[in-house]
Amino acid sequence: MSTGVATFIAIDGPVGSGKTAAGRMLAARLGHMFLDTGVMYRAITYLALQKNLSLGDAQVLTQLASKVQMELVGDPGEECRVIVNAGDVTHNLRSPEVERSVSAVSAVPGVRKVLVRLQQEAAAKGQIVMVGRDIGTVVMSGAGLKIYLDASVEVRARRRHDQLLESGAEIAYETVLKDLRRRDELDSTRDVAPLKPAGDAVILTTDDLGLEGVVDRLESLARGVPQKGDN
Ligand code: C5P
Repeated sequence: MSTGVATFIAIDGPVGSGKTAAGRMLAARLGHMFLDTGVMYRAITYLALQKNLSLGDAQVLTQLASKVQMELVGDPGEECRVIVNAGDVTHNLRSPEVERSVSAVSAVPGVRKVLVRLQQEAAAKGQIVMVGRDIGTVVMSGAGLKIYLDASVEVRARRRHDQLLESGAEIAYETVLKDLRRRDELDSTRDVAPLKPAGDAVILTTDDLGLEGVVDRLESLARGVPQKGDN
């Protein structure tokens, strides 16, 4: 068993599994870089909506992604800011319009190709915790530690609903639940890089674990500490 800290840590999971909050905290504890790949797909979606592009036109969306200048800035442990073509779009990425459209944009193979390349360039810089849908299966398929975080759709919808209420949005729990089910379906049935655990991922169900509990468990795995129940 290795006792060193894992250099490349891939965390995947569905909407509301807690991967972004947990991944960010884990990166801060380990002193790793942190990359939330979801914001990259959201940024392309936001731009496409702003430019009134057809979300059914794969070629146009691919062109948009290839031309974009995207920069992610921020310290580990903090929410990173997303700078696109020199403008800060961070606060536009969680709008209901982006939420509704991001799965369609992220299903476009050409968009994925461009963003995966950027993500792999980020990983080439060294110690990193990267979160998304296809990090363990595609982007960092050689990562030393792969985690798949999961939780029941009801628990995930409850978490997302609480976040939205906190941010001042007025939205019914049932609406959030319905949207989550739709996004789960789109993300896990698309042709390219569908959401699924890598064959060698550790699957963690977080229904009964608080955020600190999840991060403690992830940190132990990253540091190679044997877990209860491991052989
Ligand atoms: O993680 P987050 O909810 O911000 O991701 C937004 C959307 O971006 C997901 O629903 C998914 O469609 C897409 N995504 C992806 N691959 C990733 C990260 C996100 O397809 N690695």
